[in-house]
Amino acid sequence: MAGERTKILLDEDRIPKRWYNIQADLPSPLDPPLNPATGEPIKPHDLEPIFPKALIAQEVSQERWIKIPEEVREVYMLWRPTPMCRAIRLEKFLKTPAKIYYKWEGVSPPGSHKPNTAVAQAYYNREEEISRLTTETGAGQWGSALAFGTMLFGLKCTIYMVKISYEQKPYRRVLMEAWGAECIPSPSTKTKFGKKILQDDPNCPGSLGIAISEAIEDAATHEDTKYSLGSVLNHVLLHQTVIGLEAKEQFKSIGEYPDVIFGCVGGGSNFSGACFPFLMDKLSGRKPDLRVVACEPKVCPTLTKGPYTYDFGDAAEQTPLLKMYTLGHTFVPPPIHAGGLRYHGDAPLLCKLVNEGIIEAVAYDQTEVFKAALTFARTEGFLVAPETAHALKALIDEALKCKEKGEEKVLFFNNSGHGLLDLGAYDSYLQGKLQDYEYPEELVKKSLEGIPKIGR
Ligand SMILES: *Cc1c(COP(=O)(O)O)cnc(C)c1O
Repeated sequence: MAGERTKILLDEDRIPKRWYNIQADLPSPLDPPLNPATGEPIKPHDLEPIFPKALIAQEVSQERWIKIPEEVREVYMLWRPTPMCRAIRLEKFLKTPAKIYYKWEGVSPPGSHKPNTAVAQAYYNREEEISRLTTETGAGQWGSALAFGTMLFGLKCTIYMVKISYEQKPYRRVLMEAWGAECIPSPSTKTKFGKKILQDDPNCPGSLGIAISEAIEDAATHEDTKYSLGSVLNHVLLHQTVIGLEAKEQFKSIGEYPDVIFGCVGGGSNFSGACFPFLMDKLSGRKPDLRVVACEPKVCPTLTKGPYTYDFGDAAEQTPLLKMYTLGHTFVPPPIHAGGLRYHGDAPLLCKLVNEGIIEAVAYDQTEVFKAALTFARTEGFLVAPETAHALKALIDEALKCKEKGEEKVLFFNNSGHGLLDLGAYDSYLQGKLQDYEYPEELVKKSLEGIPKIGR
């Protein structure tokens, strides 16, 4: 019976030919990025020192559909279309009448959804004859994805990796080096900004904000070099819509449609990529009851506790001001193991939809999140990334609610990556050593005072 299948697969020729741009369907336009000096909207031209023109054009495009270059689709074929799976064993274990489906992005060579955009970004930079890309990485997934993407298109790659993760997770550095990239712990002595941070605090564990500043400084001070961002920006979310577009086809092939969609949120790219193609139906009124839930850590509760306001994207105040939920650009969250969810802000597109009540948000402690991950590993087998497990926690709670109420809902989550390079974190959990951190209220209060007054 079609509805009982465990893996719903698509042929290679069903890899999407176009990305979906939700900007075309927003109830009102996105608040533009502002120049921090003048408070005026920045011009696309202002971004040219750090991004290629094609990506800047995508950033501001209002076209609903944007063609995926054939060379990018050819690389996607290495692992796409990804499977959509039904978690029948998890359903049975929970004794829930709900049907649980997930999209499995852990099958890419770097092991997460991130190469969906890394490959596209490397391609557009090569088209404009850029020879090197710089970037930051938290847990190392983005760095390894960009190392993979640049390798395929013949570019060099320099990656600033948040120092706490560099030390906790050495294997992703090896992956980056295997694909030919250079990986530097941040804060570093390679940039002016890194040196300044180290002077003030030699033991600084680093943060995504600091690493972003270093990578931008490196790109802005070298002619042949541009910067690449793994999340947050509109063009990144755009590239990730291959996830949701494939998932829609897969649901269609079994005659189902999700009632609730879950995803974990660091900068917002995997979640947005998975849910935007479905939100198209909610925004157009075809699926008014569709619920979409963003899941984040309690110690970095951007969507659930931050104000919705203009802030810098980085600690050194080099980026334009972005309208988003933010904990303040100087906020350094406690070192939870879901390193990819420690960013102080979130994607403006996602934030707008949360602000308008179209997307819900929830937050969890890390021990309850790891517990959910083990429930999944002991039923479905796959050990997921600690980031992904935030979505799993929310999904399991919803499945249990369905059991109480006897509801046969269709639940869907984006399984954004595998946890095979996060075994140290799982080891701590299994040995009972993993702790929950208290929400750093004072730190947040202090960093919120640093938010610029512009646009408020
Ligand atoms: C990076 C990462 C995330 C968080 O980033 P988003 O941009 O919010 O998607 C989530 N899951 C995995 C596996 C990651 O590598």
